[in-house]
Amino acid sequence: MFNKDEVRTRFAPSPTGYMHVGNLRTALYAYLIAKSKGGKFILRIEDTDQERYVEGAVDIIYKTLKDTGLIWDEGPDIGGPVGPYIQSQRRDIYKKYAEELVERGGAYYCFCTKERLEEMRRIHEASGMPNKYDGHCRHLSKEEVNELLAKGVPYVIRQKIPETGETTFHDEVFGDITAPNETLDDNILIKTDGLPTYNFANVIDDHLMGITHVVRGIEYLSSTPKYNLLYEAFGWEIPTYIHCPPVMKDATQKLSKRNGDASYEDLINKGYLTEAVLNYIALLGWSPGGEREIYTLPEMVKVFDISGISKSPAIFDNNKLDWINGEYIRAMSLEKFHEIALPWIKKGVKSETDTKLIAEVLQPRCVKLSDIPEQLDFIDKLPDYSADLYVSKKMKTNYQNSLSSLKEAKAVLEKLTDWTRDNIHEALFGLAASLQVKNGIVLWPVRVALSGKQFTPGGAVEIAVMLGRDESLSRIDKGIELLKKVQ
Ligand code: GLU
Repeated sequence: MFNKDEVRTRFAPSPTGYMHVGNLRTALYAYLIAKSKGGKFILRIEDTDQERYVEGAVDIIYKTLKDTGLIWDEGPDIGGPVGPYIQSQRRDIYKKYAEELVERGGAYYCFCTKERLEEMRRIHEASGMPNKYDGHCRHLSKEEVNELLAKGVPYVIRQKIPETGETTFHDEVFGDITAPNETLDDNILIKTDGLPTYNFANVIDDHLMGITHVVRGIEYLSSTPKYNLLYEAFGWEIPTYIHCPPVMKDATQKLSKRNGDASYEDLINKGYLTEAVLNYIALLGWSPGGEREIYTLPEMVKVFDISGISKSPAIFDNNKLDWINGEYIRAMSLEKFHEIALPWIKKGVKSETDTKLIAEVLQPRCVKLSDIPEQLDFIDKLPDYSADLYVSKKMKTNYQNSLSSLKEAKAVLEKLTDWTRDNIHEALFGLAASLQVKNGIVLWPVRVALSGKQFTPGGAVEIAVMLGRDESLSRIDKGIELLKKVQ
């Protein structure tokens, strides 16, 4: 068994095939609540809805949690004292508890046919009423039930919601919530095929697994009165509820799978770092208080408190994610950055080049890794560009002085036998000094000639190193030709 005094939280995903940002945030908060109180974090797979089963989906859950460091203490793969941790392997348990609930008066057998239910639905719809079960089988006597069961008439087991009164529960984020019982439906707990519905299995498992804090998305808030009534009917202790606010794309739209920006994988594919994504997701609806926003997972464990969770919808802010990602990039060693940027650098540059230098140039400015290939697209091939790029008000460059700078630059660079960063730097800065002009008068045109672009990662010196001697001189020649035509 588990230790009854410890805090136990769970992440209970349904295997849908991808990890929605909101779900990952739920997992993170559940993990933080457990770990900040020295408790246990449990992984349970909720796969009762076999029609929605997606091949490989459980592996995505494992991988995402492992990548982000949300390591579970008990779960399907590692077991634990209250397993199995996959609902499809717990069928008999649910059936047994449903029958017990019938005995206790909290549930009843329902033998209504599909046709009857369909007819009822039509009538409700036509009269604009909510489609609630009408309680037809609620008052069958024990004898009537036994007779029908003996005949083998198909049945479901429904929850017996009190007909009057109201149900109140407390949520740590949303406060006290009350629902009149007459608005709650006698939902199915066990289906005709003997399998539990999601709502029933969830409550049974949370109780049997000793979950003290139920952390989940706000979409479950309206079902919670029914869960509460189940706990009461069994005489079980009610857990602490923590419902998390929705994650929105903007003021009106939820972040959805369809937009291709809702899942953890989408963000990683876009070139965000795992640590940055986790840090950003933590702040979607939780505030540690104060100005500080950069927190690693162990740091979050230290400061996390449920009272910091907000009930207002959290709007996904790409700019903020960019900023956090940049902070993590800046904070890592050059070696590490080079290692993670390398696949992206190779996407942008096929020719032989000094990738370490490129990484060094990119690191201070890089927002996300996926921006890298486009930033380097000029290396393999000089793009066609307009001579207007040579004209910069800020640098005080024009066609004429650019042309003469390129000619002078070519002369000093040609003399270099050793094509190193230091030598190129000295040659170009030395040239500006000897001509008694501002550095930009030389460096701007050289950078344009080398890249054919207005914005580049790194300046003229770094780009010359990236391109190598021959390519650099040939591009300066092309620049000279272009400028000659427009004089
Ligand atoms: N299985 C549910 C889901 O994936 C989670 C329900 C819960 O956490 O209570 O949305």
